[in-house]
Amino acid sequence: MALEKYIRNIIDFPKKGIVFKDITPLLGSSKATSECLQLLLQSLDHQKIDKVVGVESRGFFFATLLAQQLNAGFIPVRKPKKLPFDTISASYELEYGFDSLEIHTDAIQPGDKVLIHDDVLATGGTAKAVCELVEQLGGEIVQVNFLMELSFLNGREKIKEYPFFAAITY
Ligand code: IMP
Repeated sequence: MALEKYIRNIIDFPKKGIVFKDITPLLGSSKATSECLQLLLQSLDHQKIDKVVGVESRGFFFATLLAQQLNAGFIPVRKPKKLPFDTISASYELEYGFDSLEIHTDAIQPGDKVLIHDDVLATGGTAKAVCELVEQLGGEIVQVNFLMELSFLNGREKIKEYPFFAAITY
């Protein structure tokens, strides 16, 4: 199945000049979702995973599906001030300024085997910040995976020390 068929380009969203890759057609198809999930699982080649970390908000969809299939816990990484318990945070650069992400301090135990998932790898700043959070808590990153990689933005360079997989590459 050509999964690209289920990704829609939205011109000038959320700002002028940006072509936004919209995954809602893929989420709306049980067949495409299931195929994508199988690709992500196969890439792990039966490696043991204790925790799947999903990135707010579009990373949550597949991260929870992956966690269930892998018999692992699901851990949310969220924008500042959204998580109710004690957190640590990591900041990353945006086009103009900085943003940050948070994780609960008790989300990962030292030595946990961790899979990180997000929908899109663009410049890699988000993924790099999530890797920092996981490692600060002592987690061992088994793989960082995505539904799609926008390879022309070279985000993979920022997370090159970690095993990587994307179901679709643009
Ligand atoms: P990065 O930090 O530049 O790699 O941006 C990745 C983050 O921005 C991810 O959390 C994505 O959800 C979001 N993102 C960037 N571009 C797109 C897009 O075209 N579609 C959906 N999400 C995107």
